[in-house]
Amino acid sequence: MFIGAHAMIPVVIATAADIVCTAKSQKRAFSVSDRWVFGFCGILPDILTPHIGLHSRLTSFSHTLWFVFAALPVLLILSYLWHRRHFMRFALFCWLAVTLHLLCDMISGGIAPLYPLSAKVFSFYRILPKFWIPLDVLTISVFMTELVLLRKLETKSDLLYVVRKKY
Ligand SMILES: [Zn+2]
Repeated sequence: MFIGAHAMIPVVIATAADIVCTAKSQKRAFSVSDRWVFGFCGILPDILTPHIGLHSRLTSFSHTLWFVFAALPVLLILSYLWHRRHFMRFALFCWLAVTLHLLCDMISGGIAPLYPLSAKVFSFYRILPKFWIPLDVLTISVFMTELVLLRKLETKSDLLYVVRKKY
């Protein structure tokens, strides 16, 4: 997959959580800056080891289980320093974004999760390269639709607040 889908999949999930929380309690689960960080975490493995060919991905540290395990304490510390309030939820969501990246790569070419201990490749070509750009477009479209829905929910709750305050 390309970085568009890698960045947008965690953002789409976070925005879905925002929609559910807004519908229940008129409060978003995450801020706009949170979502930017989730998108960044979604592409983090490719930023740390940029690659074009599949072979480079299969030998990159950032596409292994070791990286996923190492990322969790680092994300917890950074989240505590930066976020404080709800830092655990924020860190776990960042970690989910990193993990989703590896799962997406697993179903679109493969990764060697135990490299360098083992070069065994876990590969499931479920999503062929010809679908990667359409997937970028799809995830961006879903996100835009979610934003419209979220804004409608917030507008509705703003109106209810005004009506309740007035009467
Ligand atoms: Zn990757």
